[in-house]
Amino acid sequence: MSGLSQATDWLHAFGTLFYPHLCAGCGSNNIARDEAICHHCIAHFPVTGFENQSGNPIEKLFWGRIPVTAASSQFYFTRSSTIQNALHALKYKSNQEAGIVMGRLLGYSLKLSNRFSNIDLIVPLPLYPQKEKSRGYNQANIISAGIQEVLKIPVITDAVARIRYTDSQTHKNRIERWKNVGDVFSLQKPALLKGKNILLTDDVITTGASLEACGETICKAEIGALFIATLAFADQ
Ligand SMILES: [Zn+2]
Repeated sequence: MSGLSQATDWLHAFGTLFYPHLCAGCGSNNIARDEAICHHCIAHFPVTGFENQSGNPIEKLFWGRIPVTAASSQFYFTRSSTIQNALHALKYKSNQEAGIVMGRLLGYSLKLSNRFSNIDLIVPLPLYPQKEKSRGYNQANIISAGIQEVLKIPVITDAVARIRYTDSQTHKNRIERWKNVGDVFSLQKPALLKGKNILLTDDVITTGASLEACGETICKAEIGALFIATLAFADQ
């Protein structure tokens, strides 16, 4: 063992006295230092299998609203669960690595499904700028980085912007009201999207109102096809 890696190991051991390295799902410390979520959690997260299911509950949310070629969520959002902990760690505890890991899992599912082929670009659902500034990052960008590692498709974050603040608990009717006075999202660089098959991503889908509003804005750029994928599906 080199002196450097000994020193690194010592620093790691010393660091964990104050900042223990724990699994973002179950809180176990039985985890390698370069892992964010333990193998047990990854193996037991409640997968939906929606990527292979035409007419799945995610796709139904958009029926008659916006033209979506295929949509999926990787996991069921279940309360007081390891998946809730991991999503919470990504969104509120700056655990970006957990988001990358979950994004990769979503990416593998999309890659193995023949319903999500020929995607050109990944567009993460934009946050309202002040919100992104206070959080330090957009969790959808982090998830998209994990998807990108697997699908080898570029992530575009500056083509669409969120121009109105709506909190994550916003109900569909409130977004509908915003839509009456103007769009929640705005196309910044439509030329980047024109003719492309777009995968729109986010962390959790509930009513799909924000994704629908953003998808509607993206479609104004005369894109090819629109796909939607989120990490989790929270049934209402
Ligand atoms: Zn775990």
